Order: sequence, then structure tokens, then C-alpha cells
Amino acid sequence: MTAKIIDGKQVAASIRLECKARVTALREKTGVTPGLAVILVGDNPASAVYVASKIKACADAGIRSFRNKYPADIDEETLITRIEELNRDPNVHGILVQLPLPPHMDMRRVLKMIDARKDVDGFHLYNVGGLVVGDTVFPPCTPYGVVKLLEHEHIEVSGRNVVVVGASNIVGKPMALMLMQREATVSVCHVKTRDLAQYTILADILVVAAGKPNLILAQMVKSGAVVIDVGINRLPDGRIVGDVDFEGVRQKASYITPVPGGVGPMTVTMLLFNTITSAERTAGTIKGDPTREIEEPLDTTG
Ligand code: NAP
Repeated sequence: MTAKIIDGKQVAASIRLECKARVTALREKTGVTPGLAVILVGDNPASAVYVASKIKACADAGIRSFRNKYPADIDEETLITRIEELNRDPNVHGILVQLPLPPHMDMRRVLKMIDARKDVDGFHLYNVGGLVVGDTVFPPCTPYGVVKLLEHEHIEVSGRNVVVVGASNIVGKPMALMLMQREATVSVCHVKTRDLAQYTILADILVVAAGKPNLILAQMVKSGAVVIDVGINRLPDGRIVGDVDFEGVRQKASYITPVPGGVGPMTVTMLLFNTITSAERTAGTIKGDPTREIEEPLDTTG
């Protein structure tokens, strides 16, 4: 068997076209243009690149972006005051704090100050908790992108054995919860898991987000499994690879995502998607969408 390669670039491009059409429709109907505020603290070069690519993606989709750049030694209270202003700003429908923050800052406290209804990254405690009961305001972008890829390929999740390798708060854990919500039987593996292969071999759908090149080899994968590689690793020779031995595993799997060009392009796309959803909710034009409207204002001051 040779796996079908899931083309994340193509899926992302088609969702971005939909995003563009939603922005146009919203503007024509209500005069509202979706707006995303991006907060960047410090001079981490990778963060600067990510922020630039998010701002460009916004422009391409017709979303207004507001860049807020601060020096690394800014104090936490100043940052929080700015977040509170953005919470009140009717032109801002999404607020994103680029991580990591400098070490002197309490990341959890900062993220908690974002109004959950504008938390388009899905990292606010309310949204993280909402994943447990299946009614989060915004699903986090990377796992949401994986769900969209599975949906695009019409891959059944309900009743299937899913193994998620990696248990971080931004990828592995929300991924597991989102697939559990879709009635999969989910196992989560992490660095302390003994004999990783005894879990991965049972997976109908294997999602790998560990950040370790070649962690998953062909002999660890069930014949016909769907393999989603979230990992992004730069090798010493400069090549970008995932966590899965792509060439070996593709001979055994039924579907596989490449790196680059698999999950990666979906993450920023789902950020645009969430920002537009937020604007549609605010303007009252929400359509049949997996996300839902919030019924009452949330107290995010605590
Ligand atoms: P992270 O915070 O470092 O978490 C990695 C997780 O993998 C941890 O839970 C860790 O276990 C587990 N792990 C590490 N080595 C392992 C091993 N040998 N066996 C089993 N589990 C292992 O990383 P992350 O932020 O979740 O990101 C994971 C990967 O996805 C990275 O390569 C990152 O670059 C990539 N990523 C890609 C996108 C995208 O858009 N495609 C978005 C986000 C992240 P412990 O919890 O026990 O330490």
C-alpha cells in the first residue's frame, strides 16, 4: 500500500478562499471588517517571522490587522492594560499574543486577560476548559487544522482508535480532547510512555506532535493507518522534516501528511477562520458552523 498524501497546502488554500468570501459577504451585509490584533513582545526572530506571516495572511484574506510590538523588558501591567483596551475595541475581533513571552512574564495570567470571545488562538483558560465539555468558543488552531484535514478527506473518526503522540497544552492535549469529542477512542503518549510502539501500532489514526525527527518508523504503524505529522524539525543540513519517517511510513499507511505542506499551512488558516467567526458572531450573522455563539458575557477579570 502507498498512502494518499494529504495536501495541506491545497486544503488551506481552499479554506482561505472561503475565508475571503466570508469577509466580503460580512462587509457587504454589515459594514464590519474582521480585525486581528497581534501582540509581539521582544526580538525573538522566529516569533517575528510568525507574526509577519500571520499579518500577511490577514491582508490576503481581507482581515484588518493591528500590530502591537513591545520591547522585551516591558512590564506585565502595561501589556495587560493594552490587552484590556483591545478587549473593548469594537474593531478588534481577535487578539493573539505571540508566544513565547519573555521569562519575567506570567504567560497564563497574560493569556487569561484576553476576552475569551476574542481568544482566536484558543489558549484562554475558558477555551481550554471548554474543550473538555465540547463547547469551546474557539478551538486552538493547530488541532482544529488537523480536524479540518480529516474532514476534508472524509476520514471517519467516530469509533476509531486514535493515538496522539505528544501531550502539550497547545497541540497534543487539545487534539486528544477534540477527537474524543468526535467519539474516537483516544490514547495520549508522551516522553514517559513506555514502549511507544505498543500504542502506535494500534492506531487507526496516529497524530504525532512530539518535535522529534524519525520518532515514528514504519514498523510502529498499523497497515492502513491514517498518519498525521504535526512535527516541524530543522535538521543540521537545513532540511525541515516532521516526526515521522515519511518515506518508510507512506508505504504502509492509507493517508499521510507531508512536512512541510501538511498540517503547517492549516494553522494560520484556522487563525483567520476563527477571527472571521468572531466578527460574524459580533455582527450577528453567524452561519451553520461547528463553533457556537456565546449566550452570556464572560467574566474574564478574575
Ligand atoms: P512541546 O511543547 O515540546 O511538546 C512535545 C510533546 O511531545 C510533549 O508532550 C512531550 O512529552 C512529547 N514528547 C517528546 N519527545 C517524545 C518522545 N520521544 N516520545 C513520546 N513523546 C514525546 O511541543 P509542541 O508545541 O506540542 O509541538 C510539537 C511539534 O509540533 C513541534 O515539532 C512543533 O514545532 C510542531 N508544531 C507544529 C505546528 C504546525 O503548525 N504544524 C504547530 C505547533 C507545533 P512530555 O509532555 O512528557 O514532555
